[in-house]
Amino acid sequence: MNFKNTKEYAQNLDQQDALKDYRNKFHFPKVNGKEVIYFTGNSLGLQPKNAKKYVDEIMSDWAELAVEGHFQAEKPWWDYHERFAKKLAPVVGAKPSEVTVMNTLTVNLHLLMVSFYRPTQQRFKIIMEEKAFPSDQYMVASQVRFHGLDPEETIVEVKKREGEHHFRKEDILAKINEIGEECALVLMGGVNYYNGQVLDMETITRAGKEVGAFVGWDLAHAAGNVELKLHDWNVDFAAWCSYKYMNSGPGNASGCFVHEQYHGKKDIPRFEGWWGHNKERRFLMEPEFQPEPNAHAWQVSNAPVLALAPYLASLEYFEEVGMDRLIAKRDKIVAYLEFILQEVAEEVGRDFEIITPKERGTQLSVFLHGQGKDLFHYLMKNGVITDWREPNVIRLAPAAFYCSFEDMYEFGQVLKRYFSN
Ligand SMILES: *Cc1c(COP(=O)(O)O)cnc(C)c1O
Repeated sequence: MNFKNTKEYAQNLDQQDALKDYRNKFHFPKVNGKEVIYFTGNSLGLQPKNAKKYVDEIMSDWAELAVEGHFQAEKPWWDYHERFAKKLAPVVGAKPSEVTVMNTLTVNLHLLMVSFYRPTQQRFKIIMEEKAFPSDQYMVASQVRFHGLDPEETIVEVKKREGEHHFRKEDILAKINEIGEECALVLMGGVNYYNGQVLDMETITRAGKEVGAFVGWDLAHAAGNVELKLHDWNVDFAAWCSYKYMNSGPGNASGCFVHEQYHGKKDIPRFEGWWGHNKERRFLMEPEFQPEPNAHAWQVSNAPVLALAPYLASLEYFEEVGMDRLIAKRDKIVAYLEFILQEVAEEVGRDFEIITPKERGTQLSVFLHGQGKDLFHYLMKNGVITDWREPNVIRLAPAAFYCSFEDMYEFGQVLKRYFSN
């Protein structure tokens, strides 16, 4: 692509953008009276403007129908969570029966580990990437201790090579083969939260299954960001939060995937509750649990419909746009951002090192050599919302739904002004 670092050129790209109408369907915070340049859709997606309507609907139903809302509301609450499956399945490449929405991410990983981490004398090790998101580390270590095992001897980390910023696929595959019959579970982040690297989930899943392990993915930074084919890849389980690229609102519910080969099984261990019970018989209050014949079997409590409402609203946009168009825009806007960074670096005589490898989604992680946190504060003060990680990494994620090419150009201008002062 022969990009240009001019406002006219950026505006022209926006004109051609198939998703240009979606920018106006999100609420942007303002700094100095101007809508911000928002690079933190990987942390908390912007609010879809239709979200309030979905929440208000439940507030009204609650006011007007009270308990009758469970069955009489326009979108009845008792099976509200089932509305997600059809819309969510294409986002993660699953059959509708394989996805459900419940709880929050770390909680769901715990629940899924109950089913898919079943250590034996022979086979008990878990392979993860080094420096996984802290919550995942705590979650896995506590599961290991719960089984009476020692995390030191049980959790095997794949490491980056000295001086490198990304994981090498061959190193991950070699580790899986090395652990072999001792490997009970491979559990990794599909997209690394720190460097933005997208792992080859298909190949890693196959390798894990070949040594007889279960394979699960934390898709916190992958869902709504990259192409996923969880069913075809034969992934055992996955979970993701919805408030990052899926724009569902702070702390909102998590999505779960359980491959259909595990549906309707009575012998699979699971922490159970009435919302996972056969829906036709749920209110008969029978003593014995009968699992739903799909991923809903992993549901525990009745669904928090007020929280789910904005997630459902957001999925309306996903359904309209589709992952293919989202990914096409993503690739173009990220390439343009990369170009802008290179242009500005050259102009101001600095080195911005992009540590994200070419296997990437929306996020570019950039080392700003020699820059302190004052650059970050300058950006924030000037309406550029980014995220700073010590020692000097900024993460830039121009979400395809609502970021514009002009935003990328304007960001370059702010950056240039900082270095020219
Ligand atoms: C964001 C994120 C989480 C957050 O977990 P919650 O349970 O939703 O608080 C967990 N794991 C990864 C990899 C993340 O990126």
